[in-house]
Amino acid sequence: NSAAKAPPTPSPLRFSKFFQSNMRILVTGGAGFIGSHLVDRLMENEKNEVIVADNYFTGSKDNLKKWIGHPRFELIRHDVTEPLLVEVDQIYHLACPASPIFYKYNPVKTIKTNVIGTLNMLGLAKRVGARILLTSTSEVYGDPLIHPQNESYWGNVNPIGVRSCYDEGKRVAETLMFDYHRQHGIEIRIARIFNTYGPRMNIDDGRVVSNFIAQAIRNEPLTVQAPGTQTRSFCYVSDMVDGLIRLMEGENTGPINIGNPGEFTMIELAETVKELINPEVKIISVENTPDDPRQRKPDITKAKEMLGWEPKIKLRDGLPLMKEDFRQRLGVPRKN
Ligand code: NAD
Ligand code: UDP
Ligand code: UDP
Repeated sequence: NSAAKAPPTPSPLRFSKFFQSNMRILVTGGAGFIGSHLVDRLMENEKNEVIVADNYFTGSKDNLKKWIGHPRFELIRHDVTEPLLVEVDQIYHLACPASPIFYKYNPVKTIKTNVIGTLNMLGLAKRVGARILLTSTSEVYGDPLIHPQNESYWGNVNPIGVRSCYDEGKRVAETLMFDYHRQHGIEIRIARIFNTYGPRMNIDDGRVVSNFIAQAIRNEPLTVQAPGTQTRSFCYVSDMVDGLIRLMEGENTGPINIGNPGEFTMIELAETVKELINPEVKIISVENTPDDPRQRKPDITKAKEMLGWEPKIKLRDGLPLMKEDFRQRLGVPRKN
């Protein structure tokens, strides 16, 4: 049809140094939790050169320390709300604070990151002819009126609430992605990520899994926010990274849900953490925050069909893998 323009000619610069065989990949937000695990996986492939752009708002150089100084790796302190000039073949655009504590801290900045940041990365993709993947979120479904959520559901989102800078921000980011695709022929990929957990989660970002693991290790009560019957579905980070790479490498634009459909109430999660990490710990009920979705579970039929992907790691197997990392960062000695 006449609306879509031909894809832009890729920049000749992209092949200047490594001559076609190498892939130069930009990861925005690569110093964060999911981003740093993604970088680890991309760096395993010797044909990949990885550039991380991050402003360290919620991420840390520590997460990337094993790659600093590596000849195929580059780390740039950069805020995606400012234009960025680099020559790359692929862009994984993750930059955005992900937990309510951090995205509500400066909501205007959060919406700028989602809107202006995504616009800049699309402008970059357009200039160099790169393929771009956006990490969107299950929060685009808001407090969902259908369960489980599939990609054709449009969501039930409050446009003026305290979470709106994040969920409406991501919705606009998705719109921008599709408009650049339709109008400029940009190759886009959209992942709708559901709750993800694993080592390197920010310890004090208030997420339920990081809170419970830290509390269990410090021998403090596990704080279940009332009523405790609300559900979430938790995906281990290595499964998430695998899904993101498959989406980038595949032919489907998405949006595609990536998450683990195993659904748990917060009370069940607390009991599992207690059993696996510290059987001595108490579980208490505390007050909740506004607009907390009551249930969330991905329908991953599309990811299975289109990407041949499904998560491998069960919650009971993933939680213990966080223990050593959290113990070290919390400075709590190992019990003999
Ligand atoms: P994270 O906070 O650990 O990582 C985000 C990274 O982006 C950090 O390193 C941060 O410093 C960086 N950043 C933030 N604003 C920036 C800006 N303006 N310019 C440059 N860098 C900036 O979070 P995460 O859990 O790794 O999330 C990564 C992505 O996945 C985010 O886009 C998030 O919305 C999405 N996501 C995560 C989850 C989850 O459960 N963790 C769920 C849904 C979606
Ligand atoms: N942009 C960028 N890097 C680039 C090319 C563009 O950061 O290599 C930014 C640019 O500053 C602009 C945005 O991306 O704000 C959108 O670019 P586009 O070319 O689509 O729009 P225009 O510049 O015409 O507004
Ligand atoms: N939650 C909890 N105890 C905590 C932190 C969170 O019970 O210490 C609950 C929270 O009320 C919500 C669920 O855990 O129902 C998931 O919260 P989180 O902030 O981890 O993720 P999101 O709400 O973004 O899915």
